[in-house]
Amino acid sequence: MRRAVALVVLLAAGLLPAGALATARPVTAHDRALLAKPATAEEKVAEAVAERLTGHSNVSVRCGDMGISNPNVLGVTPIANGHAFDYFLMRPQECTYLTWFHESPARWDPRTCAPSDCGNVVNIVWALQTVAHESYHLLGYTNEAQVDCYGMQSIWFVASRLGASVAEAQALASFFWTRIYPLRRVETPTYWSAECRDGGTYDLRPASHSWPS
Ligand SMILES: [Zn+2]
Repeated sequence: MRRAVALVVLLAAGLLPAGALATARPVTAHDRALLAKPATAEEKVAEAVAERLTGHSNVSVRCGDMGISNPNVLGVTPIANGHAFDYFLMRPQECTYLTWFHESPARWDPRTCAPSDCGNVVNIVWALQTVAHESYHLLGYTNEAQVDCYGMQSIWFVASRLGASVAEAQALASFFWTRIYPLRRVETPTYWSAECRDGGTYDLRPASHSWPS
């Protein structure tokens, strides 16, 4: 349909019910109400990161009710006819994880985290990836495997903008690549590609053999 709005989504690493790979809804009045609220500190950070990644100057990011019941969908960027609207939404918990990370980045370093914290590193990495992934949707990309691969290669950037050292930012990106990305192949194959690798079609920095950062 001409006016149909395709919804592009990011899915979590958990076991996914069949058919949960994508869903669709139009831009809603609820979106507009969320966007009318002033951005929180973490939403502002996410906006600044998304603006840097996209080169766009007026990106809005809000955490709130996305109108999607599937809890594995962490973020959403409405797109129509290959055109996004310079906003994306994330689940409230994603802003919570960004806040935790921003407050104390080193606490969530996968190389050195305390046993009581390490279990949440995966959630932190997903929040970083949600910001990066949805940012590439803002550029109009709709191929989820391509978007997820580009997002993964930008996790380090999101992490460092939130205060992580370069070494930690790279470790967080490596965590996604080694611990989460292989699960994509079996759990959410729409989001996985064999071309997502050092030297693959989706390698954003083919001249560099550092991967995925
Ligand atoms: Zn997506």
